[in-house]
Amino acid sequence: MSCEFQGKLNAYHDGELGAGESAGVEAHLLHCDDCARELAQLRKLSSLLAAVSEPAAPSGMLDRLHERAGAVRQGALVAFARNLSALAASIIIICSVVIISDSRGQQSAPVPAEWELAAAMPQSAGEDIDALAELIMRDLFRGEKP
Ligand SMILES: [Zn+2]
Repeated sequence: MSCEFQGKLNAYHDGELGAGESAGVEAHLLHCDDCARELAQLRKLSSLLAAVSEPAAPSGMLDRLHERAGAVRQGALVAFARNLSALAASIIIICSVVIISDSRGQQSAPVPAEWELAAAMPQSAGEDIDALAELIMRDLFRGEKP
């Protein structure tokens, strides 16, 4: 069951909610069978605990148990996420190896254009921007007859 009111049922049952929240829970209980069922179980459990002669569970124990159960669920989720991350990393590594081994059979990377080399050289880039622009224009219109 995953209902936003589930977390409020214990507090509602124990009379710990304010009037507004209590009214909200009561309105919700009219159309949510899961919450109504859970509240009925809480009431049944409370009456059973009241009937036994032994002292009842310490107050708040049910809340603590719910918290622990949530923590255990979160721990499992974290472990799952960790495994998923490891799996994703493995897939990336495998794909990289496949891509690298594939690309070795193909042609090597294209030779950089003259302007790319000039732009990559710190002493020429920025110093003579007109010359660089000229190289780029020449590369762009390479093969075209003026
Ligand atoms: Zn509900």
